[in-house]
Amino acid sequence: MRVYVPDYTLEAPGTVDQVLRLLAREPGVWRPMAGGTDLMVLFEAGQLPYRNLVGLWRIPELRGITASETHVTLGALTTYTQIQRSELMRAEFPLLVRAASWTGAVATQNRGTLAGNIANGSPAADSPPALLVYDADIVLLSERDPRWLRYSHFHTGYKTNLMEPDEIISHISLPRTTAGCVHYLRKVGTRKAQAISKVALAGLAKINDGTIERIRIALGSVAPMPIRCHQTEAVLVDRELDRATIEEAKAAIVTEISPIDDIRSTAEYRTRVTVNLLDEFLTSLLP
Ligand SMILES: Cc1cc2nc3c(=O)[nH]c(=O)nc-3n(C[C@H](O)[C@H](O)[C@H](O)COP(=O)(O)OP(=O)(O)OC[C@H]3O[C@@H](n4cnc5c(N)ncnc54)[C@H](O)[C@@H]3O)c2cc1C
Repeated sequence: MRVYVPDYTLEAPGTVDQVLRLLAREPGVWRPMAGGTDLMVLFEAGQLPYRNLVGLWRIPELRGITASETHVTLGALTTYTQIQRSELMRAEFPLLVRAASWTGAVATQNRGTLAGNIANGSPAADSPPALLVYDADIVLLSERDPRWLRYSHFHTGYKTNLMEPDEIISHISLPRTTAGCVHYLRKVGTRKAQAISKVALAGLAKINDGTIERIRIALGSVAPMPIRCHQTEAVLVDRELDRATIEEAKAAIVTEISPIDDIRSTAEYRTRVTVNLLDEFLTSLLP
């Protein structure tokens, strides 16, 4: 179905305050648009349910990667290309850089934004597993007080989240606590490039004298939303890593996922790959 363009309205105010005023005046009527790489696909297909879009792309306050002593903060409009070009991101958050390099092709990487990927909420999106193991926080702005949310609490189900209709994501904040950690990310898809993942697993671990001091594990494409695997982490933390512990963790991770059969894969395959990826990550940590 082709779209009838005059049915749609696009406002593009130049400041966050103007956007928030518009969203507060008519909550649920206006939908933020950043790079448009998700929204314009729906638009082209005649499936965009929102008639009124408010553009964020030209708002400088939502751009840039900055660092304090304790955190790296990415503006909502940070693109995949900017993530890959940042020396700081490559040094401290390499999994997010790798996920950015897997996201679409160059045109999508130049235009697609990190906040757009988060808000779109696909369980198969590439950046969420990395954001989850890096313990990201997201900052939500509205005409009310700003809200800081743990990213691991943000998604509530398939494409649902805790953001109110009058809120936008303004920043994503990453604690600078990755020094000395092992970083792991693997995506299994039909092809190496430009494929939607069947399973993706991200891991971050700090080993001290053979004992797991800290571990975080996250998965994409095996539940209605990207998930952090807290129970599997609990099996592993403060333990000496050996084959028996790895087997315990593999049994635990199966209880945390709820994969489905769909056009890309089967639940059975996704379960087996999840277990294999966890095995690969944990085996890489063995002395
Ligand atoms: C050809 C192609 C290939 C792709 N490949 C991949 C891939 O490999 N991996 C992958 O994960 N994704 C992929 N995508 C999906 C898409 O590029 C990403 O999800 C992208 O990050 C979306 O960002 P955007 O700025 O373009 O979002 P938009 O399309 O502008 O918006 C997407 C959603 O987020 C909301 N939104 C955007 N910004 C904000 C904000 N600051 N606050 C609140 N809500 C906001 C919008 O209202 C909308 O609901 C692909 C898309 C295309 C077209």
